[in-house]
Amino acid sequence: MNENMMPMGSVGIDISQAPTVECDGCGGILFTPAAIVKRISKLQTGALEDQTVTIQVLMCTHCDTVLDSILPGKIKEILDAKENKQDKQGPSIIS
Ligand SMILES: [Zn+2]
Repeated sequence: MNENMMPMGSVGIDISQAPTVECDGCGGILFTPAAIVKRISKLQTGALEDQTVTIQVLMCTHCDTVLDSILPGKIKEILDAKENKQDKQGPSIIS
């Protein structure tokens, strides 16, 4: 389903010839796995419990910038929205 996550050594692909993805922030090429977790309300799904969906992302090991160039647009929006919220420091609504 996710074509970005091809296993190492895919048939017919010489990895050494492929471009290396670099960090947007510092140009680094080492990344560590991280995850965004979305809570899906039971009110939306009709399920008995809230559900969570984990979205795998990669973070630069050097400057902690999330490698968002490989993410779908919707996920980028989540990251952008989060960054904007951190500026405001307003009271958050916790149910
Ligand atoms: Zn970086």
